[in-house]
Amino acid sequence: MALSVLLVDDSKFVRKGIAKALPTILDGQEFIFSEADNGNEALKLLYSISYDLVFLDLTMPEKTGYEVLQNLKERGIKANIIVLTADIQPEAEKIVRSLGAVGYMEKHSSFNKDALIKILQEINLL
Ligand SMILES: [Mg+2]
Repeated sequence: MALSVLLVDDSKFVRKGIAKALPTILDGQEFIFSEADNGNEALKLLYSISYDLVFLDLTMPEKTGYEVLQNLKERGIKANIIVLTADIQPEAEKIVRSLGAVGYMEKHSSFNKDALIKILQEINLL
């Protein structure tokens, strides 16, 4: 069965980069790709659809990634959420993991494929 992937980031550039990198990373696994560009849109989707994998930006309009995680936690919705962030705050990883994120990746100008492959292996999606 195809993996369902949701990518939440307000940067079109980042969404394009990940969309381009995913086929190689998922190594031929079929996947269905959905996108959201703000926190409210993401929650609307996450409340009604169960995704296999979610990429979540932290800094976004409407609701931040932290607020999205908090809302999901309050509703008891579990998902394989990998947080993408450009802010290098030492506490950020601890906070998002306590809110239920399964992975944490810094955003660089080039997408860090090795880091993502490691996370996907940890959660048994690869
Ligand atoms: Mg952002």
